This record gives sequence, C-alpha cells and structure tokens, in this order.
Amino acid sequence: MASSYQRNNMLSRVWKGDWKVTQTFSSTHNGVDIGTPNNTPLYAPEDGSIYATVTVPERNGEKYIAFKSSDGHRVLIYVHIGKFAAVGKVFAGALVALSDNTGYSTGPHTHFTYRVNGVEKDPMPYLKGGETVEMYKGKTIKYWYDNCMAFKKQAMDLKAQVADLTTKLKRMAEELALCKKGLSGASQRLAKLEIGANDPSVVKMAKEFINWVLS
Ligand SMILES: [Zn+2]
Repeated sequence: MASSYQRNNMLSRVWKGDWKVTQTFSSTHNGVDIGTPNNTPLYAPEDGSIYATVTVPERNGEKYIAFKSSDGHRVLIYVHIGKFAAVGKVFAGALVALSDNTGYSTGPHTHFTYRVNGVEKDPMPYLKGGETVEMYKGKTIKYWYDNCMAFKKQAMDLKAQVADLTTKLKRMAEELALCKKGLSGASQRLAKLEIGANDPSVVKMAKEFINWVLS
C-alpha cells in the first residue's frame, strides 16, 4: 500500500479516486480541501468511531462528521458532506459519508480538519495513509492474535446457530409428515361418514380444506 501512496500522492485510504487538492493547509486554512465530486464515498482512515454527525443551519446547512481513532489520539473531521453513512464504532475502510457541497462552499469538495491530541496539523500525510500504515506496522502479535480469535469465535457461534436451526428444521419436517398422515386418516374417515352426513356442503368444505392442506 505504501508504495502506491508514493506513486500518486492524491490517493488515500479515506477516498478512492484521484481527486485534486484544491486548497492546502496553511495559517489561514485549518485543513485541506479535496475536489471530491458530489456523492464521492468517504471512508474511515483507521479503526475508531464516528462520534458526531452534525448539521449547522446557521452555516447554510453545512453537514460534517467527526472521526476519532480508537486510541483517542487522532481526530479527522469531514466537512461539506451530504449524507451520513455511519455512526459509532467503525473499522478502517468503513464507508462513513458521501461528499457534497453543503454549507458555505463554492463548489463540490470535502474539507478535512485533522487534530493530533487536540492540535491541528496538515491532514495530508494522514489522508495519504503514511501514518496509518506506520501505525499498523507497530501492532503487536497479541493485537492480531486477539483479532483473529474474536473472528474465529464469531464464526464458531454462527456455525453452532446453523447446526441448531438445521436440527429444528428436521424436527419440524418430521412433525409435518405426522400431521399429513393424521389428516389423511381423518380424510378417509370423513369419506365413510359422507354417506350418512346430513349436510353435504359441510362435508364438501371439510374435504376441500383437507385437500388444500395435503397439497
Ligand atoms: Zn477548506
């Protein structure tokens, strides 16, 4: 992954596509603007959570979301978006929003503000994934082991559920077969009674019902 970021510095973990930087981070601009067309899918840079989805009527209906890394150190804010796609816990690469042009904006783009421990920094290295890649490199064997074990447990639980449902379905099929046998017997007895029945229309209705169930 790292080499592709080096080949094309406009590619990011956060969006897919080769969008241009329309305004860089500076002393008068507290983030970076990326010229995302409307409805560009925007993703989570790493494991963490979307802790705010906000619409600001007094800023011309501006919408933004705020992401925080799971260790709590890094915050990424996505501004001028159109649709919220996630809230709460998210994994790296999860769809979190669709871009737009909400708020005071002169054209479709996404403004990213980035903070490390509360201090605003140029988001570009983070958006390009360099810092994220380094972060993943630093994960311990225990981190990956725990993750694998958690997935394995989920898979085992699902397997157990499937086995349980299969048993239940088999039992239901057996009961259904018994019901059909019983109904078939009742139908034969009814046929014998038909000769002496006072109301042939009732017998007819009962036979139709039984045939419908057995069909
Ligand atoms: Zn901006």
